[in-house]
Amino acid sequence: MEQSPLDLALQRLDTAARHLNLDGDVLEKLRYPRETTKVRLMIRMDDGSRKSFMAWRCRYDDTRGPTKGGIRFHPDTNEAEVETLAFWMTFKCAVMNLPYGGGKGAVRVDPHTLSKAELERLSRAYMQAFSRIIGPDRDIPAPDVYTNAMIMGWIADEYSSIVGQATPAVVTGKPIALGGSLGRDDATARGGYYLVNHLASELRLPKQARIAIQGFGNAGSHIARLFAADGHRIVAVSDSHGAIARPSGLDLARVVAAKAETGSVVALAQADGVEQISPDELVDFDCDVLVPSALEDMIHAGNAHAVKAKVILELANGPITPEADEILNKKGVVVLPDILANAGGVTVSYFEWVQNKQCYSWPLEDIHARLASMIEKEGREIWNRALELKTSLRTAAYVHALARLAEAIEAHGTQQYFAS
Ligand code: NAD
Repeated sequence: MEQSPLDLALQRLDTAARHLNLDGDVLEKLRYPRETTKVRLMIRMDDGSRKSFMAWRCRYDDTRGPTKGGIRFHPDTNEAEVETLAFWMTFKCAVMNLPYGGGKGAVRVDPHTLSKAELERLSRAYMQAFSRIIGPDRDIPAPDVYTNAMIMGWIADEYSSIVGQATPAVVTGKPIALGGSLGRDDATARGGYYLVNHLASELRLPKQARIAIQGFGNAGSHIARLFAADGHRIVAVSDSHGAIARPSGLDLARVVAAKAETGSVVALAQADGVEQISPDELVDFDCDVLVPSALEDMIHAGNAHAVKAKVILELANGPITPEADEILNKKGVVVLPDILANAGGVTVSYFEWVQNKQCYSWPLEDIHARLASMIEKEGREIWNRALELKTSLRTAAYVHALARLAEAIEAHGTQQYFAS
């Protein structure tokens, strides 16, 4: 029988658990999502018809605080994906020692087929449907694939109307003018960038590294900009329409312009030595760092053997299947795992939430400095733990998070405590 994505994710929990002396309660608590709600949203379309869309919100575990996690709008999303993403958020928040549990939400829709007004109605309908689950001290959404700051603004506004008072802390990733935080826009990429720079000598990266980026959205486009500004070469990028490459380095300003004007990076193919390549060719493109920044399972048993990069920075959630992980480990590819590598996003979301609660905003330098110090600290501890346990960084990151989750779960009393 084929395993669900959550079953595959739980394998990583089991692997980590073998390195810790855990009370049985811990795995019993973390093996199942606490609450998953499914709703069919109905909205009025511009042509006067009514249309329905499946939507989910999962609060996986709230032992360490209110649940936190993005909302995804995607035509292929489903309940198992939402629960898996919420599981990963539980571990990501624990990796960074944020006072949060893990959650996630999604709507099965291709937002590109909606008008702007339909998108607003759908976003508001999401909050209407889940307003009893979501709340500033209960469950706090944020952007994810195909959702953005404006959508978060609509969602916060809808919640504020429902409860009858301005409640910006209910959602993060909002526009700055509506209580968003400086530095949230590029936080996911920036966290990964700080991590790579902090570990650069251990990762043995050349001064001018060649970087291939899969997915040119929020995470992918910002990491390209940050690396390019340091003199690294962006040799290949892709989006849902295809991939382009230029071994001597792409002109990033032109890639950004092509994406903005035509909706795809592929529009740049043929210009000035830029060649169009297949999505799989991007995965095995000759480079030093591969940055998956699109969707889950993009590096799998069928293409992992061909990876040439020495380092993979997982800005996407779950881009490498467990089978591919094993192949890459054997090849000696260092994978900076998603629950650490892309945790900059949720960390600055946490800063946004704290600022909203304080009714105060922090300068950008403070946000960058706090993010750098937190991700460098956790990254270093995970690096050292991997050396000590002789495991991959992924297993070390799970052990790191699980130790914190276990401490919190066990603080309510263990089986041994109650049985004695
Ligand atoms: P986004 O919607 O801004 O960008 C997604 C990009 O992926 C788009 O350019 C899209 O064209 C591309 N894409 C889609 N299918 C593709 C395919 N088959 N091949 C290549 N490219 C494809 O989304 P985002 O916010 O940048 O999120 C990307 C990943 O990062 C997701 O896994 C998300 O869960 C993860 N992530 C995002 C954040 C955040 O703060 N935005 C935080 C943590 C993790």
